Amino acid sequence: MRKKIVAGNWKMNKTLPEAKQLIQELLSKVNTENKVEVYIAPSFVNLPEAVEQTKNSDIKVAAQNMHFEDSGAYTGEVSADMLKAIGVDKVILGHSERRAYFNETDEMLQKKAHKAYEKQMMNIFCVGEKLEDRQAGKHFEVVKSQLENALFSLPMQAYKNIVIAYEPVWAIGTGETASPEQAQEMHKFIRETLAKKYGRDLADNVRILYGGSVKPGNAKEIFSQPDVDGGLIGGASLDADSFNAIIEAAKN
Ligand code: PEP
Repeated sequence: MRKKIVAGNWKMNKTLPEAKQLIQELLSKVNTENKVEVYIAPSFVNLPEAVEQTKNSDIKVAAQNMHFEDSGAYTGEVSADMLKAIGVDKVILGHSERRAYFNETDEMLQKKAHKAYEKQMMNIFCVGEKLEDRQAGKHFEVVKSQLENALFSLPMQAYKNIVIAYEPVWAIGTGETASPEQAQEMHKFIRETLAKKYGRDLADNVRILYGGSVKPGNAKEIFSQPDVDGGLIGGASLDADSFNAIIEAAKN
């Protein structure tokens, strides 16, 4: 039985006082009942405070990105060791905004995925097609190549710490959601692709999250699909009531 995950990607939102306030509200509302794993991913500067505030709670903290080198002349970047030193051992990699606005390529993401594995960090790895890919009927091909290029050089044991997030780019922040059927179809495809490469057992144990305009009103239906193991939530994770409602929808 795969335990569901609800992860909030705060993106470039919330100053330190705002982040503290949101975490306080979450701490007072969220009760996972051990039925769902809950992560929040604030910006780098707010991570130490987030770790401190959540330390005795069920809410775990993830970073939104990291560099693939250990240290060096990479102005503006943050390493795995820096994250681990402040108690963060989870990271979102390959988000479509990183791919689109910061030119992250499959090659870079492969290095990041290997670094996450080497440093024993949970890698919440994002894949997803653009609108034109879907319109051209290339969505399966695109997602398959994202997986192959970035992850398939990893050994089987790496997948104990990998969560895949399927995020169709056309559904991120647009208010447009993949239908539950479209989500299920792609999640099943991702699981089959993993099974072909690594075997059925491994594929059946990897959690695959859906991301793209998940809201309290649509979460339950999406999460009820057999291959959907929770969600990566952007906009709706910035409000404690809506994030908590999505967490509630993931309990079953
Ligand atoms: C995201 O950026 O990971 C995301 C899913 O955003 P939103 O929920 O706002 O579409």
